[in-house]
Amino acid sequence: MASQSFHPPQRTLMGPGPSDVHPRILEALARPTIGHLDPAFVEMMESLKELLRYAFQTGNTLTMPVSAPGSAGMETCFVNLVEPGDKVVVCRNGVFGGRMVENVERAGGVAVPVDDPWGRPVDPDRLEDALKANPDARIVAFVHAETSTGAASDAAVLAQIAHRHDCLVIVDAVTSLGGIPVRVDDWDLDAVYSGTQKCLSCTPGLSPVTFGERAMEKIRGRKTRPQSWFLDLNLVLGYWGSEGRRTYHHTAPVNALYGLHEALVLLHEEGLESAWARHRRNHAALRAGIEAMGLSLPVPEAARLPQLNAVSIPAGVDDAAVRRRLLEDYSLEIGAGLGALAGKVWRVGLMGHSSNPRNVLLFLGALDAVLGEMNAPIERGVAVDAARRRYRDAD
Ligand SMILES: *Cc1c(COP(=O)(O)O)cnc(C)c1O
Repeated sequence: MASQSFHPPQRTLMGPGPSDVHPRILEALARPTIGHLDPAFVEMMESLKELLRYAFQTGNTLTMPVSAPGSAGMETCFVNLVEPGDKVVVCRNGVFGGRMVENVERAGGVAVPVDDPWGRPVDPDRLEDALKANPDARIVAFVHAETSTGAASDAAVLAQIAHRHDCLVIVDAVTSLGGIPVRVDDWDLDAVYSGTQKCLSCTPGLSPVTFGERAMEKIRGRKTRPQSWFLDLNLVLGYWGSEGRRTYHHTAPVNALYGLHEALVLLHEEGLESAWARHRRNHAALRAGIEAMGLSLPVPEAARLPQLNAVSIPAGVDDAAVRRRLLEDYSLEIGAGLGALAGKVWRVGLMGHSSNPRNVLLFLGALDAVLGEMNAPIERGVAVDAARRRYRDAD
């Protein structure tokens, strides 16, 4: 009989998300459920929006969590900003850029994909060329941190090019927020969505979004209603928007929002700059260990995401068998390669609360032992030392 409580195993989460959830967040999730129109809850929401503005580095009034995972934040941006017939240039250098193309088409838009190789950042020159060839384009969309490959693109430069061609920008910051700088106002980003389970270290299921004035203008000026009732911002705003008067739209996921609030308090306590520095430091130690073993990080150094590390799989090694050993013997999860990188790389996440020296050393020791037992062509017994040396040198 399956009539027993479910007790998940204790894991160390070093994949592409979810990341390890901070105990203070788990504790916040277990606090008493109250009504989502309760004045105490409404007050918490105001504080949550303020904390989100800090995380996004923005003054945007419309900054709030969508009640569904990162993919719903993506869809919120596309269904509200893309009107039937709108031409949208989509930079595509991995899985998530591909999903943006789907979103444009389903919203009735015309997608113009601009492709870059997987594992490389978006090339600004290619975007410029595409915009010159498509002067009627209205929107540019790109992924800031491609979780499928571990490559970061230059959001500030891409946004500048888009604006020069009178386009709005939609930016996927699901994996970047909290892990590397995301400066919505300084970079002049119009619509940005993120997720809770990557570098915010919260449970999956919410998607912070922020919209600037230009984006709001386009939404207010729509000739047709978005095809999604649930994600229609004009309706959602009746609940999240104005202080005080709140009308029922959907029942907010009360406890999940306690969790996000706590995650953002943690981020605020640490400070964005310190969180970014911590992600860089742990990445540097991981890299030292990986390279000491004789393995490589295929993404070019300047574009490497500290929170998502693509690691080349040595020749002749059974990708899935290694991941299974790590999970079964060390209760440690890492990610497989996707698409063009399937079977070629592992994706090792150091996101949010998972980005700590204990995880780096655990993973390196475990990988060293597992690959050693398989007689893989690596330098054995040196990875952990190399990482520890890197931490000491950084102090
Ligand atoms: C994880 C991820 C998403 C989707 O988020 P979900 O919470 O899984 O829906 C979108 N974009 C990027 C870059 C991601 O890493």
